Amino acid sequence: MKITFSYLAQLRLMAGRVSDDLELTEPCTLAGLLQSLANLRPELRSLIFDGETPRRSLLVFRDDQRLSMADVISTDTDITLMTPIAGGSGLSDEERAIYEWQMWTPGFGEAGQEKLKASTVFISRIGGVGGAAAQYLAMAGVGRLVVAHGGDVRPDDLNRQGLMTHAGLGRPRIEMALMTLRALNPRVEVIALGENVSEANAQKLVGMSDLVISAAPLFAERLAMNRAAVRLNKPLIDCAMYDLTGQIITVLPRRSACLACLYAEAPPAWQRRFPVFGAVSGTVGCLGAVEAIKLLTGLGESLAGKLFLGDLRNMTFRQVAINRVADCTVCGRHDTVEC
Ligand SMILES: [Zn+2]
Repeated sequence: MKITFSYLAQLRLMAGRVSDDLELTEPCTLAGLLQSLANLRPELRSLIFDGETPRRSLLVFRDDQRLSMADVISTDTDITLMTPIAGGSGLSDEERAIYEWQMWTPGFGEAGQEKLKASTVFISRIGGVGGAAAQYLAMAGVGRLVVAHGGDVRPDDLNRQGLMTHAGLGRPRIEMALMTLRALNPRVEVIALGENVSEANAQKLVGMSDLVISAAPLFAERLAMNRAAVRLNKPLIDCAMYDLTGQIITVLPRRSACLACLYAEAPPAWQRRFPVFGAVSGTVGCLGAVEAIKLLTGLGESLAGKLFLGDLRNMTFRQVAINRVADCTVCGRHDTVEC
């Protein structure tokens, strides 16, 4: 079969041509195809790969569909490749003025800001935890936020859900979230869905994003996000809290332990309603936002392979190593994922 790669902008300049053809004898994943392309055009390797890993910022399309690295190509296909800079991700003077203080961070700089601008983050639930993550990612200048949360604003949301206000009581939470996020940073594109994550929609929402943050209070939703993230090879940051305790894990699919490696099923006595101060859920959401910024821009060291535990009753923070489980039903080596 014949695969045609068409290049846009910077890739076109580097290749000195508009396209290349590859002949394939058997079906291959997109990641495998890109390796073959980088062997054919070594001058493109640094734009396509970061070491041996395909760059998360690389945009790959077939017709009007964005492809993921795990997609298998098995027929004659035209594939378009572009880097974010081709999408106009350079910063304006106004943006430089707004983000100046964070661009002073060593190892981040203007290049880090451009990476944030080129990124899409999906946040499942924008209550006490996810709302804080969404707020700080919007203020930091992430290019696009996809947020999902069902239901209307209730009085008992207001002690912790920072995107909601008293004026919004009785209105859909997602409307209030959209309004607040736009007020905080009108440059950020927000795609808002007024329903919670389920098996039915998780894959589509995760597929739209470069990274996902799961902040749901229900295990069924968290495990559905984990399955979709592993299947689509998207980094997942799972943020949870109870009382004055916070817990975060970062999943790099098939490279570090996933949520199902940590626990394969929901605990039997879990209650939907639990004790929470907004300052605690907000702390966990902020930590999740920092972890997202790091993963998207290559800053610092991620939590992958570790469980972060914070006990704010005595202000102790620790990390516990967690390993992949060989027969994990989600990321185990049988290579199938229940979705
Ligand atoms: Zn697993």
